[in-house]
Amino acid sequence: MTAQLIDGKAIAAQVREQVARQVEARRIEGKRIPGLAVILVGEDPASHVYVSNKHRACEQAGILSFRHALPADTTQEALERLIDELNADSRVDGILLQLPLPEHLDDRPILERILPHKDVDGFHPYNLGRLAQRQPMLRPCTPKGIMTLLQASGLKVRGLDATVVGASNIVGRPMALELMLAGCTTTVCHRFTRNLETHVRRAELLVVAVGKPGLVKGEWVREGAIVIDVGINREQDGRLVGDVEFAPAAERAGWITPVPGGVGPMTVASLLENTLGAAEQHDAMAPAAADR
Ligand code: NAP
Repeated sequence: MTAQLIDGKAIAAQVREQVARQVEARRIEGKRIPGLAVILVGEDPASHVYVSNKHRACEQAGILSFRHALPADTTQEALERLIDELNADSRVDGILLQLPLPEHLDDRPILERILPHKDVDGFHPYNLGRLAQRQPMLRPCTPKGIMTLLQASGLKVRGLDATVVGASNIVGRPMALELMLAGCTTTVCHRFTRNLETHVRRAELLVVAVGKPGLVKGEWVREGAIVIDVGINREQDGRLVGDVEFAPAAERAGWITPVPGGVGPMTVASLLENTLGAAEQHDAMAPAAADR
């Protein structure tokens, strides 16, 4: 392997410690402890694991976490009522709706009901619009975490030819907006892209977020490229792998993220940063509430 590994675990730990220090500084100054409400509907086992991880990460950073576990048959109206309550609750700086929801629920109106300044996942059209207009507020956690990885690894991206493979609302699209904001010339590939290989071969910075193991062949990777693999796929033998063929890609890339231990840990780290940022904004909006 010739590529340098981008150690997401270590960088995420640094971010989390930094957040913990800032939360502690707030406490010493007599300010409110930031609070995150996490809503989980139903029994999806993976979602339970993610929510527990977020809860533990909050605890370690000194952030309050309010867990709302709702039964699978929760109605759209009941979920909307809970969002309204959390929007009005001054202890709650951030609201996170764990996706996916059970099939009978529509996530879009729920996500849009969360007040934009409590939208710590950064999925509200207001926050995506701010990012698109180069005025980011709360930024989607995974793309934000990737920008932190690049920065913490000392990688300058301005002017690079970047290719994002995958165009979902939660990863690919906001990733493309982040890269444009950072000055990359950005191409976005999706399921109708005709010649994926050509776009990958051109990329000095490649971000892949599709959810198909081995979609990007190692031999397509440009010599010296920065490769960020967001994909998380479980192989039959239980191993976790990304969307990029790791070993051959690592022979050609200059830098590469492993799976696991690359992008994954950054998502929770960004969530903590966003929750702290939301608390600071909350104080600025209602200074009288700061001592509550
Ligand atoms: P998603 O909503 O299923 O989106 C997948 C995207 O890939 C879509 O935009 C789709 O295009 C595109 N796509 C499908 N087939 C393609 C192909 N052959 N060539 C190019 N693009 C193709 O998935 P997601 O939520 O973005 O997640 C993607 C992966 O990242 C998953 O493995 C997920 O587990 C992982 N993930 C990891 C983290 C983390 O913290 N590390 C966070 C989130 C997601 P269309 O838009 O045209 O349908």
